[in-house]
Amino acid sequence: MNTKEDLRHILARIDGRGYKAYKDIKGVYRFETFDLFIDHVQGDPFAAPTRVRARVLLDRAGFPSSLHSKEIRKIAFGDYNARQFRRALAAVVKGKRGMGKSGLIDIDSGGQEILERNAVVLDDHWLEARFVVGLPAMGRTILGREAMEIFFKEIPVLVDKSLFYRSHDPSAVRAHVEVAEDQEYLRAMLPQKRLVAFIGDGAILPRRSGVDDRPLEPNAIPFRYPRELGVEFELPNRGRVTGMGIPEGVTLIVGGGFHGKSTLLNAIERGVYNHIPGDGREMVATHPGAVKIRAEDGRNIEKVNISPFINNLPLGKDTVKFSTENASGSTSQAANIMEFLEMEARVLLIDEDTSATNFMVRDERMQELVAKEKEPITPFVDKVQKLYQDLKVSTVLVMGGSGDYFDVADTVIMMDGYKPRCVTQVAKEIAERHATKRIDEGGMTFGEVTSRRPRIESFNPSKGRKEVKIEAKGLRTILYGRTTIDLSYLEQLVDWSQTRSIGLFIHYYTQHHIHGSPTLREGLERCFQDLEKKGLDMLLPYWVGNLAKPRIYEVAGAISRMRTLRTH
Ligand code: ADP
Ligand code: MG
Repeated sequence: MNTKEDLRHILARIDGRGYKAYKDIKGVYRFETFDLFIDHVQGDPFAAPTRVRARVLLDRAGFPSSLHSKEIRKIAFGDYNARQFRRALAAVVKGKRGMGKSGLIDIDSGGQEILERNAVVLDDHWLEARFVVGLPAMGRTILGREAMEIFFKEIPVLVDKSLFYRSHDPSAVRAHVEVAEDQEYLRAMLPQKRLVAFIGDGAILPRRSGVDDRPLEPNAIPFRYPRELGVEFELPNRGRVTGMGIPEGVTLIVGGGFHGKSTLLNAIERGVYNHIPGDGREMVATHPGAVKIRAEDGRNIEKVNISPFINNLPLGKDTVKFSTENASGSTSQAANIMEFLEMEARVLLIDEDTSATNFMVRDERMQELVAKEKEPITPFVDKVQKLYQDLKVSTVLVMGGSGDYFDVADTVIMMDGYKPRCVTQVAKEIAERHATKRIDEGGMTFGEVTSRRPRIESFNPSKGRKEVKIEAKGLRTILYGRTTIDLSYLEQLVDWSQTRSIGLFIHYYTQHHIHGSPTLREGLERCFQDLEKKGLDMLLPYWVGNLAKPRIYEVAGAISRMRTLRTH
C-alpha cells in the first residue's frame, strides 16, 4: 500500500499540469488513522466529482460493539456516522477552491428517514465512509497545493470527527441506534396485534411545508390518541409506549376540511420507514406492506387486470389485460391498486384529495340515473370490504366527502382540530338511521389478481455509445437508457438515493432474475434476497456511496410505469 507521502509527492508533481494528470492519484494510501481509497477520478472540474472512501479499523474507531451488533443497529449506526460526517463538513471544509466543483466535499447522508444506505458501511473489521471530492483546478490547470489542503488537512479531520467514537456524544449515537431499533420492533409487532399502523401519543405529524419534511415548529399540536383505540407496546429500549392502533380491516378517517386528515394519512404512509430522533414520527409505525394509492391520469398501463373495478368499456376494450398509454383518473387508480396487489401489498392508503371521484363513490341517485350496464366502473366503496374478506388487504381511507363508506367501515376516526376521535359507533348509528338505498354493485367477491411477467425486450439501458446508461434525475425521474420513467406519483419514495437504486435494480432484475422467475413479483423478491446477502454494492461493478434501499413496491411501480414495458 502507498503511504500518504506518496500521495503528497504525486500532487506536488502534477501541480500546474493539465487536469487529466489527476488520474495518477487513483489508488490506496495509508494515513495515520485510516486508509484512503481514491476509486474514480473525475475528468474535469465540472464533471461528477471524484469518488473516495476512508476506512478505519473498527477496533481503533472505538465504538462499543453493541452499537452495531444487529442488522438494524448497523444500518442506524452507519446512518449516524454519515450524518456526523456531513455536520462536520460545514466546520472543516473551505469549499470553493477554484472552478466548477473544485474544493467540494460531500456525503450522501439522507433526510428524515433512517434508510439502509452505503454512504457509511461496515463489516466485522472496518468502518468506511464514502464521499466525493471536487479536485481543484483553475481552468484545466491542477491546483496541487489546494488538493493537498483537502487531502492532508480537511479529510483527516472529517474522518476523525465522524468515524471515531471519542468525537461523538455517546448518548446521541446510542439514541439514534435505539430509536431505529424500537421502530423496527414496533413495526414487526403490528401483525400480532392485528394492527396496520400505530401512532404514538405525543407524535408530531405535520411537516414544515410540502417541500420541507422536517417537523412543523413551534405550533404543532401533538398527537393524542382516542381511548377506544388505545394500544400499548413494550419496546426494547424505550420501554412502554401508548398510542392509537389502527386495526386491520377498513378504516375511515373523516372530519372537516383542514382538520388534519391528510396529515395523519401522510404520517402513516411514511411510517413504513424509520425516522431520526427529533423527527416527531419516531413512534409512528406502519405495516411494511402498506402502499399509497392515488389517481394518476395520463400514465401508461401494460396489460393489468383491472376487471374487479372496470368492465364493459366502450368499444369492448379488454379490462382483464388492460393497456393504455393515457389512463383516465379512474383506470389509473384501479391499475395502481391492482399492480400493488400483484406485489402482495397488505394495506392500501387512500386520500380523497388525490382520488378519482367516480372511482371512489357512486351514490343512490346516480345509480338510478345511470344504469349499471352503462357505467364501466364498480366504485371502490363496493369492493373495499371484499378486498379485506377475500384477500386480507386492509384499507385506510381519508373520506370527508361521502357517508356511503359508513356502511363498509370497521373503524371510523374523526379528526377534530387535529385530535382524533373514535366515532365508529356514531357513524354506524347514522348509517342505520339514514339507510342508503344505493345498491351494492360489487358482486360476491373481490375478483382476480393477475400476475404479469415482463418481457426482456422492455428494458434497453443503452444510450448512444454507452451500453448501460441509467441515471436518476432527482427523486422523481429515472432515465433508463432512452426511456424516461416518471415516479412523481409514487408518494412513498422519499430519497433520491432510493431512486438511483431503483434504476439499477431494474437492470439487475433483467440481468439476473427476469428469465428464471414466473412473475414480476418473484423476480423482484429474488433480487431483494440477493440484496439481503450482498448489500447495495451488488448493484454496480464499482464503489459508490449514494445508494439507499428502495422498497419492492416502488421498484415494481417504476417498472409498471415504463412506457416501454411489454408483458407476457
Ligand atoms: P385535511 O386533510 O383535513 O383538510 P390537512 O391534514 O391538510 O387537513 O391539514 C391542514 C393544515 O393543518 C396543514 O397545513 C397542516 O400542516 C396543519 N396541521 C395538521 N396537523 C396539525 C397539527 N397536529 N398541528 C398543527 N398543524 C397541523
Ligand atoms: Mg386533505
